[in-house]
Amino acid sequence: MSEPLVISQLPYEERYTLPAIERLADTPEQVLHKQTRIRELLRKRNAVLLAHNYQRDEVQEVADFVGDSLGLSQQAARTESDVIVFCGVHFMAETASILCQDKTVLLPDLKAGCSLAAALSIEELREWKAKYPGAVVVAYVNTSAAVKAESDYCCTSANAAKVVASIPEDKEILFVPDKFLGAFVALQTKRKNLIAYPGYCHVHRTIRSGQVTAMLESRPEIELMIHPECGCVSSCMTKVLDGTLPQRRTFFLSTEGMFRHVQESPAKQFAVATEIGMLHRLRIQQPDRDFLPVNPDAVCAFMKTITLDKILRSLETLSPEIRVPAETARRARRAVDRMLEIV
Ligand code: SF4
Repeated sequence: MSEPLVISQLPYEERYTLPAIERLADTPEQVLHKQTRIRELLRKRNAVLLAHNYQRDEVQEVADFVGDSLGLSQQAARTESDVIVFCGVHFMAETASILCQDKTVLLPDLKAGCSLAAALSIEELREWKAKYPGAVVVAYVNTSAAVKAESDYCCTSANAAKVVASIPEDKEILFVPDKFLGAFVALQTKRKNLIAYPGYCHVHRTIRSGQVTAMLESRPEIELMIHPECGCVSSCMTKVLDGTLPQRRTFFLSTEGMFRHVQESPAKQFAVATEIGMLHRLRIQQPDRDFLPVNPDAVCAFMKTITLDKILRSLETLSPEIRVPAETARRARRAVDRMLEIV
């Protein structure tokens, strides 16, 4: 793989403001009451509630569908509801708007941004493309609608390798914006002409290879599931290849891939290397298994901004709405459709 591009712009950490995580004091009865009211309003508004795997537990519980970016996009694309309440982050609601221009897409809190999406502006992408004429741009779904509109393909962690493999081998690929996923996909596909943009997610970057090694050493039977956005992914993959990490217990998986893996695995204990919201659904689906976070501090404050109260307000007022302008949506649609086709 070529050297990553270093763009001398504003440091990534200065491009976004992390919201404070609200500590909620609702009793179980109050939670149930709010969830019941949300279900009533969803019916009244002919609305569907989609929630990402990293959402708060009580938000996941009230959702019509819980999943990863790919699954949520698929659900948005096929829904017949008039309103989509998107419990995720801004770029996800934008993707829903790209796919459903005739629907009202609500994001209950506009502070739900994403550090990874903030790492790449449209100007930076255009500048980068100009340096590599003829290159194909593959954009991870964690990008703004404007960036998607400038890209040839969109992908999620679930299908990034397949998308890259579908592009003719002689074509140079600019992979944006995640350097960890880019490096992982280049290794997986043995692609030498993939150049990864140097962005990263501030949450996944904190998941380090030392934490992974310590977890595997202290629990000889535990299986390790690593999301490819993690800061440790390339070094873990190298360690699997040179035998330092046990191949039979180490798996690189998207969040939905983790659910499938657990269903098929005989293991009783799993170490989970991603945002800790994942543990809730895993524990509900597999109550007889044990799930441990590799880094218990891997919490996405953006994802946690959405609360039951904000969903209620959003359904009552039909705001805040996310609407991608028609021309941007039309141009981004080609890349997003390719993401949905290659699964
Ligand atoms: S976990 Fe990282 S990539 Fe996912 S929404 Fe939060 S900041 Fe973005």
